[in-house]
Amino acid sequence: MALSVRKFDAVIVGAGGAGLRGALQLAEAGLKVAVLTKVFPTRSHTVAAQGGVGASLGNMGVDSWQWHMYDTVKGGDWLADQDAAEFLAREATKCVIELEHFGMPFDRNEDGTIYQRPFGGHMQNMGAGPPVQRSCCAADRTGHAMLHTLYQRNVRANTQFFVEWMGLDLIRDPVDGAVLGVTAMEMETGEVMILQARATLFATGGAGRIYASSTNAFINTGDGLGMAARAGIPLEDMEFWQFHPTGVAGAGVLITEGVRGEGGYLLNKDGERFMERYAPTAKDLASRDVVARAMATEINEGRGAGKEGDYVLLKLDHLGPETIDKRLPGIREIAKKFANVDPAKDPIPVVPTCHYQMGGIPTNYRGEVVAPHGGNPNTVVEGFYAAGECACASVHGANRLGTNSLTDLLVFGKAAGDNMIRYLADNRGHRELPSDAADRTMARLDRLNGQKDGANVHETRAELQRVMQRHCGVFRFPDMLVEGVDRIRQVAERVAQTEIGDKSKVFNTARIEALELDNLIEVARSTMVSAEARKESRGAHDRADCHDTPEHPNGRNDDEWLKHTLWFKEGDRLEYKPVILKPLSAESIPAKVRSY
Ligand SMILES: Cc1cc2nc3c(=O)[nH]c(=O)nc-3n(C[C@H](O)[C@H](O)[C@H](O)COP(=O)(O)OP(=O)(O)OC[C@H]3O[C@@H](n4cnc5c(N)ncnc54)[C@H](O)[C@@H]3O)c2cc1C
Repeated sequence: MALSVRKFDAVIVGAGGAGLRGALQLAEAGLKVAVLTKVFPTRSHTVAAQGGVGASLGNMGVDSWQWHMYDTVKGGDWLADQDAAEFLAREATKCVIELEHFGMPFDRNEDGTIYQRPFGGHMQNMGAGPPVQRSCCAADRTGHAMLHTLYQRNVRANTQFFVEWMGLDLIRDPVDGAVLGVTAMEMETGEVMILQARATLFATGGAGRIYASSTNAFINTGDGLGMAARAGIPLEDMEFWQFHPTGVAGAGVLITEGVRGEGGYLLNKDGERFMERYAPTAKDLASRDVVARAMATEINEGRGAGKEGDYVLLKLDHLGPETIDKRLPGIREIAKKFANVDPAKDPIPVVPTCHYQMGGIPTNYRGEVVAPHGGNPNTVVEGFYAAGECACASVHGANRLGTNSLTDLLVFGKAAGDNMIRYLADNRGHRELPSDAADRTMARLDRLNGQKDGANVHETRAELQRVMQRHCGVFRFPDMLVEGVDRIRQVAERVAQTEIGDKSKVFNTARIEALELDNLIEVARSTMVSAEARKESRGAHDRADCHDTPEHPNGRNDDEWLKHTLWFKEGDRLEYKPVILKPLSAESIPAKVRSY
């Protein structure tokens, strides 16, 4: 069946912070840009970001981009590419000031400058300390303010939005693999179309929904990663998932690190401030993986609070109701609604919860997607860009520094937009679409429509989430990982046979959920297979068989594992590529033992 085709200079899949920042560059340059999104742009998950965006403005004391870069590389346990880390830290200040000029309502100091709060792992003096206040925030609703600012700016620039449109598959040129656009479905009508582009940007956000307990929205199903994987693009460093220390116990809803930045702290059931034992210097503001593991250890060793001893307590009543209402109003609301606790009086029960993917579609710091070709692991895939949480720049390495995700989507969203403009100037015509451009998509839809005696979508997704939570969580055990690979492959077989009862076309959410599950499974498989293969502990990847030894402090093994993982869907194949240790202009930051 011939599908209708619409042509644009650029197609962007995703209207969160990264997609909107990229779109703004392109639309302001006068290019014809289509932005697809499953939800209204201002409902994208960036809206949930609470604590702030990192930039070394130095409004609260001395700071520098070199310190920010150092904290990024150290936070990532030295797996970050240092050219990308330098680019992020240098560009952050410009991007935040630019956002301020766009009208972003940041909190202010008395002198009118942007207020900045402390955050985990943000230090002065190349990691030596004391802590630095680097997180620029709008109370505890920074993402909300940012997303609205960027959306309004895009409306002004005439960006064309396709709201409630779902990107389904990537279209590549069979000759050289260049990307030519996407197939997409209008969710209201169920109609499928081809959106042809001279340049395509993926900004589809995270995939935290592979875990049973997650701070991520239901729409965070890793669609960009699934589309890329099905089209033969590898996924990078998928074993690294950040578990945020403070999700509301039982609900998973996030309590920002900004709470600890403002002076809140964690207690076990005995009222002990246990982080003093695990991170004597940074204490509650140590890096997220360190705090999450300390909490899990307290709970596992019987010092958890509550009837079941399965959470710890986050105390902030000592800040006083005025500070809580001024700096953390959303947190007070969340605690009341989801934990039935007023934090101005009582501590909030919290547990580590899946929060952020460090891995994703491999890119360089210019936002260009890269893949191995002809002996070069970083060959640019022509016409294809990615930014934000779905991309792996790789700036977050093995563990993201808090506030660096909003920085990432501003810096790399803008960089991708700039490089797309350059590419479009050199490539003026649309290439011809291959005759089978929509075949993959139509085969998926036909299979789903025709499936008999298949698997239930909800049950299969729940099983996927249970397998991931149990076999590949905060702590990872070798035998559980090996079994996890088998289990997730079994889930993949069921995903290939999902069945929907309702075959109607108009707003068929059952079909959409089934299509999302096709993406979740690629993310889950890549995570499990990559995690099983990496035989060391590094950042967020903590293996029980790779302990802290004098030879390998914290279980990290740089001799064998200072390298990025690349997972290919075809045959669950793994390749590895070197970490870029040479920054753009700064001195390389030599690997050290990571302690806080
Ligand atoms: C609760 C919470 C609090 C956070 N707080 C902070 C913080 O304080 N500081 C910080 O730095 N980071 C924070 N983070 C992380 C940060 O918010 C995210 O990493 C970031 O906002 C992701 O932005 P994005 O633009 O990449 O994706 P998103 O904002 O998730 O946007 C993804 C977009 O892609 C669209 N999309 C997805 N799939 C498709 C498809 N198939 N077709 C069409 N459209 C599609 C969606 O509709 C959406 O528009 C937080 C995360 C959470 C969960």
